[in-house]
This record gives sequence, C-alpha cells and structure tokens, in this order.
Amino acid sequence: MLAIENLSKTYPNGAHALERFSLNVDRGEIVAVIGGSGCGKSTLLRLIAGLETASQGTVTVAGQPIRAPHPLVNLIFQEPRLLPWLTVAENVGFGLADAEIDARGELIEGGLRRVGLSDYANRWPKELSGGQAQRVAIARALVTRPQVLLLDEPFSALDAFTRADLQDHLLEIWATARPTMLLVTHDIDEALVLADRVVVMQPWPGRILRTIDIDLPRRRD
Ligand code: ADP
Ligand code: ADP
Repeated sequence: MLAIENLSKTYPNGAHALERFSLNVDRGEIVAVIGGSGCGKSTLLRLIAGLETASQGTVTVAGQPIRAPHPLVNLIFQEPRLLPWLTVAENVGFGLADAEIDARGELIEGGLRRVGLSDYANRWPKELSGGQAQRVAIARALVTRPQVLLLDEPFSALDAFTRADLQDHLLEIWATARPTMLLVTHDIDEALVLADRVVVMQPWPGRILRTIDIDLPRRRD
C-alpha cells in the first residue's frame, strides 16, 4: 500500500534529516516508528503526506506517486490543530472535498460517532479537553477516508488514561476501516500494543537501524 524508496531529505540549512530510507507497508498494517529526537521521524511523515519535497527517492501510495498533499494520505499531529473559529462539526468537515457536499452531514456525524463525540458537534474547540480535541482531529482525518493514516506522536501530550482511551478508539477505527498506519511514538508500550512492526531509526542521517516484528497476541484481534 505504502512504498517508500530511497527517500532522502537534506534541508536548505544542510541538515541531513533522512538518507536512503526505504520501507514497504502492507495494506492495513500498523507500523510504529521510534527513535531519538532529530532522527527524521517527522520529516518522514511530512514527506509521505506530501507536505515536504524529497531531495531524492519516491513515495507511492496504492501505486500513485505522492509529491503534494493527497486525499489518499492524512497526517495527524501531536497538537489537534483545530480551527478555533469553526465548530467541532465544521472542523471535522473541513477537509472534505466539494464533491462530497451531499454526504457531508452524514460523514461528519459518522466521524464524530467513531470517536465517541456525537454530542459535541456544535461545541467550540476551546470547550474541549485535550483528549477530546485530539479525537476531533482524528475524526477530521477519518472522514476523508484516507488509505494511509500517519500519526506524529498523536497521544504524547495526553495523560495516561486519556491516552489509553484514544488508543482504544484508534484500534476500533482500524477494525472498521483497516487503514494502513504509520505511527511515530516515544512510547514503547504504545508501539507494542498497536503495531505489527516497529521500525527503530538512527539519526544523522536518518535511516532504519532495525525493524522488529511484533509477534504478540494483538489487543485488536
Ligand atoms: P524527529 O521528528 O525525529 O525529531 P525531524 O524530522 O524533526 O526529527 O528532524 C530531523 C533533522 O532535520 C533534525 O536535524 C532537524 O534539526 C532537521 N530539520 C527538521 N525540520 C527542519 C526544517 N524545516 N528546516 C531545517 N532543518 C530541519
Ligand atoms: P483535561 O485537562 O483532562 O484534558 P479538562 O479539564 O480541560 O480536561 O476538561 C474536562 C472536561 O471539562 C471536558 O469534558 C471538557 O469538555 C470540559 N471543559 C473544559 N473546558 C471547558 C470550557 N471552557 N467550557 C466548557 N466545558 C469545558
């Protein structure tokens, strides 16, 4: 589903964020990416999301080259990044294409239901807890039905209870839509619980140090 080949990124200031990074992720597979600060994890996700241009190498999703933001791919950040002047429902619908205007209400309702926030459609972002805001961000990503969901430390700003709750929501979402997921995390437990495979990165330049298959009873099974 996701094919990353020889991906390199050197920033204009000379920082070698990634060098010849290659990884294939199967449809529906969840891969966790771990590694110290500055080893290129965020750069990797931004390149896959088409938010950054690679110096070399390619990213393809379902056979399509990704060079700019693309509906097949959606990235969830550590901070929810909700628009404060839009309601929860409007935030969830923000990424929907004009073509989906007819199904809009239904898609938004479905997205909010899947993150357990059906009653929050008309609230404002500032009325939400950190965990609720991140659930809205997840719903906003889901309604566009991406094939590949990228998550950049999505739960690291949350307390342990809220984090466990959102991990459960994510697993439920996975069980329904089976998106391919790439999850950057500093939480080894989270990687073990959620992922089929863990990729350990090394810095300067960012590349894969080791890949570990997780052969544990899956909580999602
Ligand atoms: P991580 O997410 O693993 O902490 P990053 O991808 O953020 O790593 O950063 C990898 C390297 O690229 C670091 O050396 C960082 O300083 C550099 N870097 C990241 N973003 C930029 C940028 N926009 N401009 C210049 N250098 C950057
Ligand atoms: P946490 O800090 O644990 O993420 P908060 O203490 O911010 O959570 O919020 C706890 C509850 O209070 C949540 O259900 C949230 O919806 C509600 N809440 C927080 N801030 C406001 C607000 N300004 N107006 C209305 N409800 C709020």
